[in-house]
Amino acid sequence: MTVGVAILGSTGSIGTCALRVLERHPDRFRVVALTSHTSVDTLARQAAAVGAPFHGSVTADGPDCLVEAATHPEADIVINAVVGAVGLEATLAALEAGKRVALANKESLVMAGELVLRAAARGGGEILPIDSEHSAVLQCISGHRAAVARLILTASGGPFRDWPADRVRGATVAEALRHPTWRMGRKITVDSATLANKALEVIEAHFLFGLAYDAIDAVVHPQSIVHGFVEFVDGSILAQMGYPSMELPILYALTHPDRVPDSGVRRYDPVAAGALTFEPVRPEAFPTFALGVAAGRAGGTAPAVFNAANEVAVAAFLTGRITFGRIPELIDRALSAHATERAESLDAVTLADRWARAHTEAATAP
Ligand code: MG
Repeated sequence: MTVGVAILGSTGSIGTCALRVLERHPDRFRVVALTSHTSVDTLARQAAAVGAPFHGSVTADGPDCLVEAATHPEADIVINAVVGAVGLEATLAALEAGKRVALANKESLVMAGELVLRAAARGGGEILPIDSEHSAVLQCISGHRAAVARLILTASGGPFRDWPADRVRGATVAEALRHPTWRMGRKITVDSATLANKALEVIEAHFLFGLAYDAIDAVVHPQSIVHGFVEFVDGSILAQMGYPSMELPILYALTHPDRVPDSGVRRYDPVAAGALTFEPVRPEAFPTFALGVAAGRAGGTAPAVFNAANEVAVAAFLTGRITFGRIPELIDRALSAHATERAESLDAVTLADRWARAHTEAATAP
């Protein structure tokens, strides 16, 4: 019996990577549903190539195709690789339907961590991270969750790691998209340059592993070889390592707690990889990081506001409407103006998300 897999966002960076991984394991997995945002032709080609019984594109078929794919009766695992807040409903629906959700859409947990955990508990679904840092943590923890004292998530530092703070503020779109170690979509690449991505990942880790914010740290590691550290109560530290590629985190999310042979993942050579270095996050150059962690600590609807303001600000930066330095300013503005409420329902989260979008949109208008 093969395991049915649905991929939401199959034409994006994670989606195409997942298809490559799945192609190497036809004896274990079959693709049963695919969705894309806008790419209708690529999607149809993908669906024909893998023989998926269902495919839908958000722009051509409407946003309901995400939930339809996420709850597809033949899907045992749902890879949610949708970019941004639109991925949340599909995550909730899949968990309610008892699916394993291999989650690359970190916004689901950031916006509505408690709702997502509740949906999993209610429906019997489970969440497996497709994020290199969280996959690393999960692999290190393996069976010793109660003995975890602290997590350290690594960050490449992005293209502006060693730039002076005032130069970072004036960075261009082309400079922000030139990531030193990871090849990813445009939005997450900008998030890596501001370190918003690392703040989102701290919040994600808080919900995934049930740890307080004081027990989650981030460290800059330019080589992107160590993906995460777990410190246990006895002081021992385990790290998970490998060349930067999403193939292993995707494969592991599909096979956890088992490991399966895979010849496609590039083997690590410590001599060839060279020195591994670590340095602190520089708050003066990357204020977005602290803003995001503070939103996480504030809890309730604050992380949803951080996420929404960031999405709008990044889109405005990518279209040349604002400077790089305006991104944290706009996020700060939205968070300061927002009266945080409990994130008790999808409505409360959606309302906060819409409010932050409108608020930030208005501030970016020429
Ligand atoms: Mg990551």
